[in-house]
Amino acid sequence: MSAETQNLTDGFHLVIDALKLNDIKTIYHVPGIPVTDLGRFAQAEGMRVISFRHEQHAGYAASIAGYLTQKPGVCLTVSAPGFLNGLTALAHATTNCFPMILISGSSEREIVDLQQGDYEEMDQLAVAKSVCKAAFRVLHAQDIGIAVARAIRAACSGRPGGVYLDLPAKLLGQTMEATAGLKSLVKVIDPAPAYIPSPVAITRALDLLRSAKKPLIILGKGAAYAQADADIRKLVETSGIPYLPMSMAKGLLPDTHPQSASAARSTVLKEADVVMLIGARLNWLLSHGKGKTWGAPGTQKFIHIDIDPKEMDSNIEIAAPVVGDIASAVSALLKGMGPNWQKAPVEWTSVVREKAAANIEKMAPRLQNNNVPMDFHGALGALKRIVAERPDVILVNEGANTLDFARSIIDIYEPRKRLDVGTWGIMGIGMGYCVAAAVETGKPVLAVEGDSAFGFSGMEIETICRYKLPVCIVVFNNGGIYRGTDKNPTGGADVAPTVFVKDARYDKMMEAFGGVGVYATSPDELSRAVKEAIASGKPTLVNAVIDENAGTESGRIGSLNPQSVVGKK
Ligand code: ADP
Ligand code: MG
Repeated sequence: MSAETQNLTDGFHLVIDALKLNDIKTIYHVPGIPVTDLGRFAQAEGMRVISFRHEQHAGYAASIAGYLTQKPGVCLTVSAPGFLNGLTALAHATTNCFPMILISGSSEREIVDLQQGDYEEMDQLAVAKSVCKAAFRVLHAQDIGIAVARAIRAACSGRPGGVYLDLPAKLLGQTMEATAGLKSLVKVIDPAPAYIPSPVAITRALDLLRSAKKPLIILGKGAAYAQADADIRKLVETSGIPYLPMSMAKGLLPDTHPQSASAARSTVLKEADVVMLIGARLNWLLSHGKGKTWGAPGTQKFIHIDIDPKEMDSNIEIAAPVVGDIASAVSALLKGMGPNWQKAPVEWTSVVREKAAANIEKMAPRLQNNNVPMDFHGALGALKRIVAERPDVILVNEGANTLDFARSIIDIYEPRKRLDVGTWGIMGIGMGYCVAAAVETGKPVLAVEGDSAFGFSGMEIETICRYKLPVCIVVFNNGGIYRGTDKNPTGGADVAPTVFVKDARYDKMMEAFGGVGVYATSPDELSRAVKEAIASGKPTLVNAVIDENAGTESGRIGSLNPQSVVGKK
């Protein structure tokens, strides 16, 4: 370093220092112009920089890192196409209420704004705005500290979500005097301030709950995100109310809990008279709170706990809105209930319990089958038993049938141990989630993937091998989307649009990168391979051969497909 540069810092280092000052330790990244050196310097400055093969997966990793840690996950990309690839994940983070910051390099402002055709020219800030909570561009090195602070606050406070930070190439090289640079940084105090619900709202909710003959609690992933695990369990147990976990809320209480109504889902949704929603939205996943899934209109009353006031009455009338953060709201409810709270009526809880027990018993024998080729039940039965022995494993799950069956079959025992497609029900989150889950928690990860779902992020198994992450991927290989049996009705040479290469060997892809590949045709073989993978911590891919006839169109959401009256299938 020359004498003149000794006391200087620059945009690169200010970004890194600002992130580090705010306790952000990991960047999910794809290198390239103009951010290659930003990644390099971040690593040199002691941050963990995880490089991916495609920005979408780096973005999904950042989004789920945010969910798991309550700190914004950071994804760093190049300009225009890299930014757009990361944008899917930013929109996903916003939709799912996960705190995330997408940082993208961008091209020369003057040229972009005059549309003079720069390298990777795009007005990224304008594009990002519609899919995130906030978007900021920084033009001067001395503003980096404030910009990073605002990004963190916007991502974490209130309803969490995605934030975009635009860093033009020129900014990164800008220098300023080092001491002034250091002073310009901002440490964010209390990034997600408590939002205490009003006592009136708590009383109203408790009055309604007290009047209920058939109460139900629905836990959503907002409840899992809130990390108020002990109080949520206490609320459920003190009230004696049956509860239904949304898929990523599974494990907040162990799925084997006697009050779990998962196996009596249709009964409780239809018959409950008072429903308390905790961090769950009445969106499509809950049939918008109306229609044939639910009881007759007007017969059910809702208590809704959510940090976002606009969520109240979004689909139907909410009789008792409780606007506040879940930790504060649940603790206020517990206080109001006191030790002598009258538990939910046994006439109701026993009906729910019997219904659930009967359904579980009906399912049990199918989960024990050792059929070859495997069906979903045989294969998932084997995995269910493994997770019961290793409740610390984080389960990542995507697919159509693979998702629907795994969600109901595999019990989860600890909070935030099930990560899946989330609010959009999308494919593609798989490998990005695996990487972040392993990096952020150090726990073993088991991914249960449909063969189609796996394809969206499959190349990232190289990333998993490169960082030697304890990830075991099971590809449920039925040779196609939904099934592997569709035919081209014209008899032409092309296969049907939903069909893949027969007997594809995904296990060999893993071997290509030095991981362990296993070809499994029976539940016993599958079980052995997964146990070994979890014990060894070695990156492993098990190609689980599933009967190509098993599976239904779009899994459990086939009804969302529009129907043609003239089409030929
Ligand atoms: P699920 O899909 O599991 O039902 P949703 O994503 O639909 O869950 O709902 C999560 C809800 O949780 C969102 O409405 C969000 O505003 C809310 N939420 C997230 N974090 C908190 C928190 N800390 N306190 C209160 N509400 C929260
Ligand atoms: Mg398939």
